[in-house]
Amino acid sequence: VNLKEAYKVLEADSNISDEDLKSHYKKLAVKYHPDVYKEDPEKFKKINEAYQFIQENKQQEVSQNPFQGFSGFDFNNFDFFQYPNNFGKGTKSNFRFRKNPNVSIHISFKESVLGCSRDIKYTRHIKCDVCDGKGIELKGNGCQDCDGFGRIVSRTANTVYTRSCQKCLGHNTKKNNCKNCNTEGSVKSDVSLNINVPPGVANGNSLRLSGMGNFNGVGIFGEEYSDILIAVSVKSDPKLSIEKNDVVSYLDISLLDALKGCSKKVETAYGEKEIEIKEKSKHSDTILIPNCGIKGTDGKHRIILNVNYPENINDLIKILEEQKCLS
Ligand SMILES: [Zn+2]
Ligand SMILES: [Zn+2]
Repeated sequence: VNLKEAYKVLEADSNISDEDLKSHYKKLAVKYHPDVYKEDPEKFKKINEAYQFIQENKQQEVSQNPFQGFSGFDFNNFDFFQYPNNFGKGTKSNFRFRKNPNVSIHISFKESVLGCSRDIKYTRHIKCDVCDGKGIELKGNGCQDCDGFGRIVSRTANTVYTRSCQKCLGHNTKKNNCKNCNTEGSVKSDVSLNINVPPGVANGNSLRLSGMGNFNGVGIFGEEYSDILIAVSVKSDPKLSIEKNDVVSYLDISLLDALKGCSKKVETAYGEKEIEIKEKSKHSDTILIPNCGIKGTDGKHRIILNVNYPENINDLIKILEEQKCLS
């Protein structure tokens, strides 16, 4: 294969920009994916090989200029790269980005204020120990440097790039498919965990469990596992709500109680509490109960008074006169 042929396979002009080539390649790969394009299953492989070949040539150009650094594959579009075996045989990268299992938990309003714990169960992919996550086993005198892949994968935070194995130049790829994992490099494993839900988690928040997701491959930093995001849904409470670190509720009281003052029992996330309402309290006055907001913060429970006035004007005047509010 030479560059000219590679561009021909991709039906592209050799002057095409990197960006255009990439999007063009993705379109072709989707169009000719073997699941879709049954006429010529080899076509997909050829396209991938041609694209990789062009990328590698570019990388070699780039690596000769120490001031430019690498510009390799970027895996921004994870969905696309979730196609199995998307690089075809012999050019397979040992990185696979698998969709993580969806895990969600449901908690009550009070649990969101106080924090709680939950048992969770899900199934994830873990490294296949038989082939050490590679999906293949070396046969006889296969190349040790590249593990028979013919190429070496390196990775930074955002970028994955490959280069041909300098030792065997990609020719010594004797290998057997791993039977334990059926070349996946990973096997399924059930996880059951007890997780702590910290106080203050709001409906729609996610909890991240670092490294508890799927096995993605063995990289230069060792085994790589993705994170799991646990979606939390909080059941709303008909009476209580959250504002910053405070819990807020409304209390209906009569005009007479507001004028004379009284004590009332109110429901908080920490159980029932008794509060004192001062005489001559007004509508919308706030009463604070300390240490009853989001646990572990200086949040309070804020009671907002909702003073109910008598509907009948004569009743209103009677109350005001009795309380010596009119003179
Ligand atoms: Zn295996
Ligand atoms: Zn090699």
